Amino acid sequence: MPMRFQPKISSVRNKSLRRLFRTRLGVEWGTYITKLKSGKRRGPAQEPGISSAPLSNRLLLGLPPEEFTLLSPELEAFSFRSRQRLHEPGSEVEFVFFPSEGTVSVVLELHDGRSLEVSMVGKEGCVGTAALLGMKSVQLGATVQVPGTGFRIRAEVIRDRLSATPILQMLLARRAVAENLQASQIAACTRFHRIEQRLARWLLVCRAKTGVERLPFTQEFLAEMLGAGRPSVTLAAGALQKAGVISYNRGTVRIESTSKLEAAACDCYRAILESETELGDC
Ligand SMILES: [Zn+2]
Repeated sequence: MPMRFQPKISSVRNKSLRRLFRTRLGVEWGTYITKLKSGKRRGPAQEPGISSAPLSNRLLLGLPPEEFTLLSPELEAFSFRSRQRLHEPGSEVEFVFFPSEGTVSVVLELHDGRSLEVSMVGKEGCVGTAALLGMKSVQLGATVQVPGTGFRIRAEVIRDRLSATPILQMLLARRAVAENLQASQIAACTRFHRIEQRLARWLLVCRAKTGVERLPFTQEFLAEMLGAGRPSVTLAAGALQKAGVISYNRGTVRIESTSKLEAAACDCYRAILESETELGDC
């Protein structure tokens, strides 16, 4: 049986931890439990501020209370803005980010200006895994694609506390494996599958990670994500729209038919989502 992240909600009952949730995370314990059990989203992106940040990042929720309390005083609420750059290739990673909503693209950028998304991070993971596992800098960029809220923490802080947080170590190692599998799948997809299939795959993975039907859409943006030229993306999107699979305008795309979108995609989206589920959650 694959292991899944299970928030240890039943064991978090003492007063100090309830106070910590209220004072540091701005989340009343009762509200937190209600939302956790119902699985409901808090709504659209909100302004930065600890008092308005939902805590639904599954990696953080997967920590036992004793490990969470070691990190929580240093967690800062963070608002992810569309196209915001979180990490620059080759630069030292200052912060690690834990999205509660939205998604972040981890992108390989070549010297000639071309780029390719190698993994997509949502509330199941964090941005900066490599930095936490020993590398101070990474050769990958990270850009917000779907805005939302979440938390950030200084990389040096979390590295210093890693030896005292074995469950976090295990979860990060799983995330590293999941990201590696995702990058491998995308490499094969980019080499062997048509642009229409890749576009459909990207939309399905993005929707699975965000739970929203309307997604960001510009030819330039998708060309960067898919490693394709803008004319190819335009043609692919036009073909999908003509077939009644999607509709798009004003920078957003709407999925009109999930079954048609799945039929249009290659199997890579299933492989990506299934590997995440096997390794923890998605
Ligand atoms: Zn594919």
